[in-house]
Amino acid sequence: MRTVDELRAQVAAWRRQGLRIALVPTMGALHEGHLSLVELALGAADRVVVSIFVNPTQFGPEEDFATYPRSEAQDRAKLAALGAHLVFAPGEEEMFAPDFSTEVFVAGVSEGLCGASRPHFFAGVATIVAKLLNQCQPDIAVFGEKDYQQLLVIRRMVRDLDMPVDILAAPIVRDSDGLALSSRNAYLSAAERQIAPLLHRAIADMAQDVAEGRPMSEALEAARRRLEGAGFEVDYLEIRGAADLVPFEGEQPDRPARVFAAAWLGRTRLIDNVPVPTTGTESEGAA
Ligand code: AMP
Repeated sequence: MRTVDELRAQVAAWRRQGLRIALVPTMGALHEGHLSLVELALGAADRVVVSIFVNPTQFGPEEDFATYPRSEAQDRAKLAALGAHLVFAPGEEEMFAPDFSTEVFVAGVSEGLCGASRPHFFAGVATIVAKLLNQCQPDIAVFGEKDYQQLLVIRRMVRDLDMPVDILAAPIVRDSDGLALSSRNAYLSAAERQIAPLLHRAIADMAQDVAEGRPMSEALEAARRRLEGAGFEVDYLEIRGAADLVPFEGEQPDRPARVFAAAWLGRTRLIDNVPVPTTGTESEGAA
């Protein structure tokens, strides 16, 4: 389906039957990470719409919009095999009138991390997701924790603008060596692909060290050295509050925390994040 009118007609028909509708927004080039979102949506709603739109407004002028992987036919086959009910793949002309002039900007959670190195990014994401939510009007929309800051930006937008939709979060899907699945992993050379899992290992070890009491600045420095030693160029490496992305003062997190990282490996920018484990979990056992 290519047009908003067609999408609305189908969604209206489902609504008349009293069905619950979920939306999974993607930029295509679908992998198991995306498909896990679709599975979550299938479990939470009666009908699942997957949108595929490579959103030009979230790419900077020097970024990879032109070369971003596109594989709509394979994407459609994967979604059909999984049982998704509708693929909405609008063209740019359907999404943007020639004099399109509105932007959704979410302050606070958009700032820092990916918002610092990609200043255009979250306004582009929030604007397109607001449009998709208005076009489809789903009961539920599913986003991955892979893009954790994006998830919080969307949650904040939906809350602040009273959008009537529940946002569900899906955990990060990784390759067996720990590398978070990403459409951009296709850019990695064979040699870079060997090094890439270190990003996850470094932040997971760091999160564990901090949980065991290592001062955050020391743990951050050690992880940075480890990544740079392996050939990464670190864009950011930070520990922030998991609920609001506010940084910590002092050397120990005093509320639930996550490690966030973005790093270049050659021409590929990888991002990842992990929770700082909390002490007193069930696995540590009661006396
Ligand atoms: P994208 O196509 O990269 O815009 O991603 C579409 C959705 O899939 C976003 O909500 C992402 O967070 C999610 N996603 C991408 N990769 C993964 C992954 N490895 N695990 C879980 N969710 C993912």
